[in-house]
Amino acid sequence: MNWEKVVEWDRRYYLRIKQALNEFTPFPISKVEGNYLITPDGTKILDFLSGLISVNIGQRQPQVIEAIKKALDNYGYVWEFMQTPYKSEAAKLIIEDLLGSDNWAGRVRFVNSGSEANEEAFILARLYTNRPYIIARQFAYHGWTTGAGSCCGLRWWRGSIASPTDDEYREVPNFQHGGFFVVAPAPHCYRCPYGYEGPKYCTVEGRRACLNELWHQILNLGPQNVAAVITEIISGGGLVVSPVEWIKELRELTQKNGILWVDDEVMTGFGRTGKWFCYQHYGVTPDIMTMGKGIVSSQLPAAGVVVSKKIADFFDKYRWWHANTYAAHPVVMAAVVANIKFMLEEKLVERAAKLGDYLGARLKELEPKHECVGEVSGMGLFWGVELVKNKKTKEPFFPEDRFTKGTGDISKWAVNIVQAKALEKGVLVGGFAPNCLRLGPALTITEEEIDKCIDALDYAFSELDKSCT
Ligand code: PLP
Repeated sequence: MNWEKVVEWDRRYYLRIKQALNEFTPFPISKVEGNYLITPDGTKILDFLSGLISVNIGQRQPQVIEAIKKALDNYGYVWEFMQTPYKSEAAKLIIEDLLGSDNWAGRVRFVNSGSEANEEAFILARLYTNRPYIIARQFAYHGWTTGAGSCCGLRWWRGSIASPTDDEYREVPNFQHGGFFVVAPAPHCYRCPYGYEGPKYCTVEGRRACLNELWHQILNLGPQNVAAVITEIISGGGLVVSPVEWIKELRELTQKNGILWVDDEVMTGFGRTGKWFCYQHYGVTPDIMTMGKGIVSSQLPAAGVVVSKKIADFFDKYRWWHANTYAAHPVVMAAVVANIKFMLEEKLVERAAKLGDYLGARLKELEPKHECVGEVSGMGLFWGVELVKNKKTKEPFFPEDRFTKGTGDISKWAVNIVQAKALEKGVLVGGFAPNCLRLGPALTITEEEIDKCIDALDYAFSELDKSCT
């Protein structure tokens, strides 16, 4: 392989994301294996982001590879309107085996990406309720298509261009000003915008203050006009872990007002948080749940939408469709089935809970040791570290923080400094906002690999501590 050519063709012909041409930094990968990325010179990098927090069972598990090869013996392409063993089994596994005991899930439809899954959820919610509005939360990421992008509470991730040299910034107008999407506050207790000390203290009109604000938005729109509220229970980019009370109160409020709750489990699903789905920690069930990433450990493109029994019964009475060429592609469905079966056989969800406790405890050891560690939060194998300039005052390194436009020199972002330093120790970590470090290894990670990551973070945080005040 001529890697110089590979990099040069990429540099010259590919429509890059995230970097202007003069920032282009090659990162060639010659192979992926288990929890590692391997560069052309044979360097093994421990991927503590598991792709995009998505390769839940590790890369290239033999069972998944075999299932894909076997599916290709009989199938190339078949439209989802027809039946294949793989689509049927994937649906049965999700509705019956994974969700059956929670007694809410009726049917699943497969699509190709998390963005599509959310787009689909909005269509279903609007048709079911016959209402237009969707409410999302700040600091959420739900995807890049028009509806999902409009629900993004992270500004830079809403389809934009940002200049690396000055403050020039442009955003696709329909994401911010498109129809019938509203963004409400998030329960970000570490930096409560209302100044409260935490979820125990913030009751206003019988609800958490920020949930009350969401309720006021519903009242302003008219409850009869609101189809759904969409949340990531733990936000991938924003590091917000919803307090249990918040989700319970949201559920009460939505149910009382005929509003659906769309639970976006694209990142938190398939064992990531130590249960199959994150809502299972919260003692509630959703009306619609969207899935992606871990459904197939990103080995092929797959995602899905689960609807409650009540919504499924409603759609059973109608002819409903919009065409999607690749939905439930048989080869992809074979990989989904193999992925879920592997997780069940290897008890990876239980493993994520156990190793998650270990990862959380080890991360918390770093909290008192480093000036730059503001807050460590998470569960299972899904943790976040908020990096701060001053631990006492919580002064952020980058004041714009989660509202960043992404302009200027982003190599100086706290999260990117940590990334560069950890890479020197052979570990890939990262994040989606300037001060927000996100960790999400494969559920196959070992204690030794967690220790390796903690050592790398210890080293990287020591560097960042030098900039603390
Ligand atoms: N929802 C959440 C919570 C996500 O984290 C993502 C992607 O990171 C998406 C939706 C969009 O998924 P996709 O990138 O597969 O379109």
